[in-house]
Amino acid sequence: TSSHECERAWIEIDLGALAANTQHLRQWLAPATELLAVVKADAYGHGAVTVAQTVLAHGATWLGVATIPEGIALRQAGITAPILVLGSVNLPVQVQMMAEWQLQPTLSTPKQALIFSDYADHLREPLDVHLMIDTGMSRLGCPWQDAVGFVQFVQRLPHLRIQGIYSHFASADDPDPSLMWQQQAYFEQVCQELASLGLGSVRRHMANSAATLANRSSHYDMVRIGLSLYGVYPAPHLRDVVPLQPVMQVRSRITLLKDIPAHTGISYGHQFIAPKPMKIAVVGIGYADGVPRLLSNKLEVLVQGKRVRQVGAITMDQLMIDVSDIDGLQEGDVVTLLGEDGEDCLTVETWADTLGTITWEILCGFKNRLPRIPV
Ligand code: PLP
Repeated sequence: TSSHECERAWIEIDLGALAANTQHLRQWLAPATELLAVVKADAYGHGAVTVAQTVLAHGATWLGVATIPEGIALRQAGITAPILVLGSVNLPVQVQMMAEWQLQPTLSTPKQALIFSDYADHLREPLDVHLMIDTGMSRLGCPWQDAVGFVQFVQRLPHLRIQGIYSHFASADDPDPSLMWQQQAYFEQVCQELASLGLGSVRRHMANSAATLANRSSHYDMVRIGLSLYGVYPAPHLRDVVPLQPVMQVRSRITLLKDIPAHTGISYGHQFIAPKPMKIAVVGIGYADGVPRLLSNKLEVLVQGKRVRQVGAITMDQLMIDVSDIDGLQEGDVVTLLGEDGEDCLTVETWADTLGTITWEILCGFKNRLPRIPV
C-alpha cells in the first residue's frame, strides 16, 4: 500500500527523475566543475532532506540554502556535504550557530567579515567563508569595482578561509544575453586581477540554472543549480540543451460527485454559472495547499487521463471541476493538477504563464500540509 492512500491531496516526488536530472546536468559540466545543488525553500517545495540525499548520491558535491535553520535541518538529517548559506548573516549569535553547524556564510562587506573573524579568533579555529561580488544583480555582494580590495582584506584575517568568490546573474534566462555577458566580464576582470596578485586558486562560481544551460564559459569551478534539478527549464529557449524531467507531481482526489441543473451558480461569488445541466466533482485541494486562487476558472486538471476544466472560485481546501464528459467516475478517484496522467501532462510552466509569474514561485508555493511522497 502506498502511503498516499489515506490522503485527500499529496505531492509525488519522482526521485528517479531527480537523479537523472542531476546526472544529465553533471554530464554537461566539465569534470573539474563542481555542482552545488540549491535546496533552499525546502528544495523549491520538493522536500530538502530527500532531495539533498538524492542529488549528493548522483553528482552534486555542495548544497546551497537561504537560511541557517534550513542548513541545520540538513545537518540534523546527517548530511555532511559542505553547505553554503546564500542569504546574509550579521548577528554574532547567528555566526556562532553557523560555526557550530559548519555552515559557510556569504560575506558582502568588511564589517561582516570582521564579525566572523572575531568569532573565529575566539574559537582559535578557521572558519570557511564565501565572498560575494555584485556584478549587476544589486542584491548581496561587494561592488565589483571594490572586490579586489575586499578579497585582500579578508585574506589578511588570520582565521577566515576563503572557500569561494562568487557572483549572481540578474537575467541569464533572457534570450538577449547582453547583461549576462556584461556581468561575466566584470567578474572575469576581478578574477584576473586576483590571479595577478597570486590569489588565483580560490573557487569561483557564478552560474545559476539558466547560465549553466546557456553559457558554458560561466561555469568556472562550480555552478549553483536549483530549478533545473527539479526538471523545469528556466526559459523556453533553453529547452533541450540537457534532457530534464519534472520531479513534482501534484495530485488530489474527488471527494464528492454531483449532478447540477442548468443555471446553478458554483462556489463563492458564483463566478461560474452552469450553462446546462452538468456533472461536477469536488476535489480536496485548495489555495491553502498552494493552488493559487487566481487560477480560478482557468485551471485544467487530468481525470482518467482526460483534461477537464476547473469551475468557480478555488476555495481554501477544495475546488470544483466539470466532469460532465467523463463516465464511470467515483468518489476517491485521483485528480492530477501537475504531472502526468495517461498520455497527457500538466506543467508548472502553464500555471506560471496563466498567472503572469515564474515557475520558481509556483513550486515554492506548495504548503507543508501536502505530504511529499517519494515515488
Ligand atoms: N544562486 C543564488 C545566489 C540564488 O539565489 C539562486 C536561486 O535563486 C540560485 C543560485 C539558483 O537559481 P536557479 O533556481 O535559477 O538555478
